[in-house]
Amino acid sequence: MRVLPSVALAVLAVTLSACSGPGPAPEAPSGAASGATASSGTTASSDTTTSSVPASDRAEPTGKATDLPAPPQRTPVPAASGPATAAPATASPAPPAPGATAHTDPGAVDVVVNKRRPLTPLDYAPADLRRPAVATPTGFDLLRPDAATAVEEMFAAAAADGVGLAMVSGYRSFSDQESTYAYWVGQYGGAAGADTVSARPGYSEHQTGLAFDVAQADGACTLVRCFQDTPAGQWTAAHAADFGFILRYPFGFHEITGFSAESWHFRYVGRDVSLAMKEAGTQTLEEHFGLPPAPSY
Ligand SMILES: [Zn+2]
Repeated sequence: MRVLPSVALAVLAVTLSACSGPGPAPEAPSGAASGATASSGTTASSDTTTSSVPASDRAEPTGKATDLPAPPQRTPVPAASGPATAAPATASPAPPAPGATAHTDPGAVDVVVNKRRPLTPLDYAPADLRRPAVATPTGFDLLRPDAATAVEEMFAAAAADGVGLAMVSGYRSFSDQESTYAYWVGQYGGAAGADTVSARPGYSEHQTGLAFDVAQADGACTLVRCFQDTPAGQWTAAHAADFGFILRYPFGFHEITGFSAESWHFRYVGRDVSLAMKEAGTQTLEEHFGLPPAPSY
């Protein structure tokens, strides 16, 4: 796999990592073929094959073709049992589903954005964004004020524990995401593969200004799977909820969230929600709010 200079890698990853699209960094192209296979719906998620495919360390969702076949489910969500292409009976095409209109205000902290819940309007842009006073090595360094404050508090607490953090991707506009998604479509030769690693414009949590990708200050494992094993990855996983954040794409829940695990992507939901989820052991926003799973568009 080709390795780019770290700076280029970081910038590229930021751009790509649609989060809501795992940011399988530059190597993604190598998984292009497999990406197509993933089109069956479930996010490629090499989640479950991590240990057997060390090479996919850097591009968790793409991995090898062998990663794609149905990763085991850890969660008893109704719709998770069928092929991803089969929409959950209650979720279908559009409106009538329970909760279809709940949590859709893009300006609200409880908005839920996923492959079946685009932002409304698609090109929504927060009116209030600010740059948190933390290390932001890339250009995507804006967040909504409440999220920015929470990031500052979280990073300060991590520093007090001897863990240096950096924010590598905060708000991304609709047009930023257009570029990101187009890049992946080019890499994969089509939407099927791109959809496994990058959110379509209007469907990215980063566009809400409430999500950010965290990295370890020294850049180790930035936006790649091994981040979860770094001190920064472990610290944020353990403490993010105390600051109002949730790990939005946890390991093993791609049938619900639509994306493979991203140990670096955090979403601000406010402490009431983050702590309630932690207390209940609930892993996804969809489950917490009783919304249908969103394995695919
Ligand atoms: Zn992200």
